[in-house]
Amino acid sequence: MSALRRVILAAAESTHLQRFVQKYGFRLGAARFVAGETLDDAVPVLRRLNDDGLLTNTTLLGEGVRDEAETRAVVAAYREVLDRIDAEELRTNVALKLTHLGLTIDEDLAQRNLTELVAHAAALGNFVRIDMEESRHVDSTLRIYRHLRESGHENVGAVLQAYLFRSDGDLADLLPLAPSLRIVKGAYLEPAEVAYPGKGDVDVAYVRLMEASLEGGGFTAVATHDEAIIERAISFTRQRGIPNERFQFQMLYGVRPRLQLDLVRRGYDVLVATPYGPDWYRYLMRRLAERPANLLFLLRNLVRD
Ligand SMILES: Cc1cc2nc3c(=O)[nH]c(=O)nc-3n(C[C@H](O)[C@H](O)[C@H](O)COP(=O)(O)OP(=O)(O)OC[C@H]3O[C@@H](n4cnc5c(N)ncnc54)[C@H](O)[C@@H]3O)c2cc1C
Repeated sequence: MSALRRVILAAAESTHLQRFVQKYGFRLGAARFVAGETLDDAVPVLRRLNDDGLLTNTTLLGEGVRDEAETRAVVAAYREVLDRIDAEELRTNVALKLTHLGLTIDEDLAQRNLTELVAHAAALGNFVRIDMEESRHVDSTLRIYRHLRESGHENVGAVLQAYLFRSDGDLADLLPLAPSLRIVKGAYLEPAEVAYPGKGDVDVAYVRLMEASLEGGGFTAVATHDEAIIERAISFTRQRGIPNERFQFQMLYGVRPRLQLDLVRRGYDVLVATPYGPDWYRYLMRRLAERPANLLFLLRNLVRD
């Protein structure tokens, strides 16, 4: 892992820097990656993406919660998001983090909160994706995902991170559920005991995981901006006769927008992950760590004003 990536991911935990960046944030250019600070800001962005032929998901940004009452406020906010998507007839689903629903307070609490939201989404014909966070949360996250699927909830999906050594095994365990899985490289600072430190190894692991998931019978979201991997997914699905309904590409709002539209023109489903909310600092830092050149983009905006 590059030293700069390490520094930026460590800075993601700094409260001093957070205060500074939140203050100047949208001016610095966070708006490139975040659809706004409120749901009202996000709706026209989601609509414009839909009008361009892109599917979308949205996330109310935020990760830590202190007590059960705070998690109830998050659940209420997501219920509102799902209702608004329905009322506005957007082609948008929801992706959320279990820590935002209370995972670090109590696993049962997070599971109850998630179950309520998945049931609400089902009533509206919608879908909820559980993002994957730091490696210490993987066991509990997959336990909760499995519990929901085994209790009859179909409209819920999970994420596997290619950088973790364990992910091949996790995929094999999940395949009997015909899961909806998003495959990502992985965005957090992880120790070498649990994750490949080198990018080349992560890329190889990604392709292995993606192909096993595509062949496994569920639904695969190929979530990457890596063009070589995207082309590999296209040729693999063609060779194996895997229909387009069984997979989609996913990218982040603000990253490779032309590639997103090119894939739509080629007949593939592309979903753009389009988060919003006032609590966008750590999300932004992860986007900077993925491509430190983005730091220059932010600094240029600072100088321009
Ligand atoms: C839809 C979606 C959902 C995700 N969900 C999760 C999750 O639940 N858990 C998790 O750990 N991670 C998640 N990630 C992040 C993921 O793990 C990677 O950190 C991120 O996608 C960058 O890796 P890459 O696959 O694009 O490949 P890379 O090899 O990092 O990048 C390939 C190319 O894409 C472009 N690129 C990549 N990132 C950026 C960027 N930030 N800004 C500008 N250009 C960029 C560059 O041109 C780069 O050369 C998600 C990513 C996507 C797209």
